[in-house]
Amino acid sequence: MSVLLLGAHMSIAGGVSQALDRASSIGSDAVQVFTKNNRQWKGPPIDKEDVARWDEEMSALHIDYAVSHASYLINLASPKDDLWEKSLNAHKDELGRAHAYGIPHVVLHPGAHTGSGPAAATERIAAALNRIHAETPDYTDTMTLLEIMAGQGTTMGRTFEELQAIIERVAEPERVGVCLDTCHAFAAGYDFRTPEQYADFMEIVEQTIGQATVGCLHFNDSMGGLGSHKDRHQHIGQGEIGVEGFRHFLNDPRWDGVAMLLETPKDDDLKEDVVNLETLCSLVDDPTRIPPGLRGM
Ligand SMILES: [Zn+2]
Ligand SMILES: [Zn+2]
Repeated sequence: MSVLLLGAHMSIAGGVSQALDRASSIGSDAVQVFTKNNRQWKGPPIDKEDVARWDEEMSALHIDYAVSHASYLINLASPKDDLWEKSLNAHKDELGRAHAYGIPHVVLHPGAHTGSGPAAATERIAAALNRIHAETPDYTDTMTLLEIMAGQGTTMGRTFEELQAIIERVAEPERVGVCLDTCHAFAAGYDFRTPEQYADFMEIVEQTIGQATVGCLHFNDSMGGLGSHKDRHQHIGQGEIGVEGFRHFLNDPRWDGVAMLLETPKDDDLKEDVVNLETLCSLVDDPTRIPPGLRGM
């Protein structure tokens, strides 16, 4: 097995490429970013100088994997045509930004049906992705990862079956994958705390979306209990999942090469990230798989 791709979501204050310096400062070798302000529809034009700096820093700082997270405003499941169109264009822009930076994956919340029901929403999301793909034939190096969700309200993507139903309707399925967030999956009702539960969980993953469809893992403990449908991230080992759940993922060869990224609360000094990464590294059986920057912490 190769060295783990471990890291966290990092701020892009000062420029998108600044996230790489933050990732490197805590010894990580993977990172998640927003490629623009995630709470706004429109971003500034792509900064070519920052793209060049990003390319240099990725190799200079030994960051081996980067993923972007799309705006929280995007709702490809919306039954409202204006919001759906706006969302479709915003996600196309997200893919274009990732493409410019050479980022292979863009994590997207599948959306919320807001009353139209899951069946209609599934068609709606797939139709949006199909149109985006048809309009961006040169973006094939950047794929969308639909994130499993905790299932609050009318959110889509509450089960692997629901994600699979969307992917099945995409004409170019190789351009869509899944982001498996441990907090969301647990809050949605999937248990993986004991070795037996983890084995059953992986069987479900394999029988639905297929494990190979998972492009990245979000490593968050859960403040809410199993099946609580609460999307509240907690520090590793301090939530309802506990460290054992993460130990299974970290030592499972099936996740070799799939990045594991924290989205846990933190201050600007990133101390909480350091503690969470230390906790994760302490659970790794083979010490040669710990990223060099995180060894001997
Ligand atoms: Zn997310
Ligand atoms: Zn997540």
